[in-house]
Amino acid sequence: MRVINFNAGPAGLPLPALERARDEFIEFGKTGMSIMEHSHRGKDYEAVHNEAISLMRELLDIPERYEVLFMQGGAHLQFCTIPMNFMPQGTSADYLITGNWAKVAFEEASKLGKPRVACTTEENGTFVRVPKQSEIKVDPNATYVHMTTNNTIYGTQFHYIPEVGNIPLIADMSSDILWKKFDVTKYAMCYAGAQKNIGPSGVVILIMDKALIEKGAKTLPKTLTYSTYAKNNSLFNTPPTFAIYMVRNVLAWMKSIGGINQISKWNEEKGAILYGALDKMADFYRAPVQKDSRSLMNVVFNLKTPELEEQFIADAKKAGMVGLKGHRAVGGIRVSTYNAVSVENVKTFVSFMEQFAKSNG
Ligand code: PMP
Repeated sequence: MRVINFNAGPAGLPLPALERARDEFIEFGKTGMSIMEHSHRGKDYEAVHNEAISLMRELLDIPERYEVLFMQGGAHLQFCTIPMNFMPQGTSADYLITGNWAKVAFEEASKLGKPRVACTTEENGTFVRVPKQSEIKVDPNATYVHMTTNNTIYGTQFHYIPEVGNIPLIADMSSDILWKKFDVTKYAMCYAGAQKNIGPSGVVILIMDKALIEKGAKTLPKTLTYSTYAKNNSLFNTPPTFAIYMVRNVLAWMKSIGGINQISKWNEEKGAILYGALDKMADFYRAPVQKDSRSLMNVVFNLKTPELEEQFIADAKKAGMVGLKGHRAVGGIRVSTYNAVSVENVKTFVSFMEQFAKSNG
């Protein structure tokens, strides 16, 4: 029996994408072998690879001047390849510090040069909001501005795209890519580990302006240079073929249910139900995030004591709901409601919350 999975990542995958993988697991098409056993240079794998890329393009209306690339190494590798490529010695890049991963990205860049903080919303060791546009002070000489669109641990999310003038805007979208349509052209680069909204772990998807790729450092090893991936359709070396195959399945499912417009309708509905419940039961559940910064992907809240939170998590598990423990850095409860979590799942969870508050209030 499958549980309702609220994990923050790796996260639940849409059942139809898993079922398709199950049906094709031993033999892909009429090829006599699993997709995992195919050469990455063969036409069968290449068709899957290209389908994943064209589905990304179609779902997000990605213009021709952007490449869609696959890399490995998680979002963490991007934390260093971005400054390696785009923050040459003697220059500086700007970072918006809005949560744990934004900080890690900044710290990694600091090992390679001198990035600068363009704003921070850290207060008393925590983050409960994203900045207003007026708080972001961009250095006109910055080689890029780095931001994190959704802060997975603190449960905050940008609901606008910061204006940074002519400076390339680079966004870590690991925990909210494809949650809603956005204007790709406002960014020079978007990247996301697949393991939340797009597929399994092991692959990072990048949307990159070709002009930015051209600006990359020329002397780095090939695997750390974006143009290597762009010139070779992300087939320069062996890509994580099975992960990309799963990405294809997830994207094909998204298209089949009506694309991102349908997905974002569901996400808005899920958010309204869950935050509505938290606001209604505010004497029992405490949601720390400022309303205009609330994330629709990771909903965080606290109960009165850590013991009560433990009991909440244990009782939820008995009711078939898992993945609710807040990140170890902050504790509390975190409900990750990525695209594979249905409106029904969230309704079931809210009924459980109501019941728990009644029995323990
Ligand atoms: N950025 C964000 C927004 C994340 O949520 C995470 C992981 N949860 C990371 C970066 C790090 O990703 P990875 O483990 O793929 O390096």
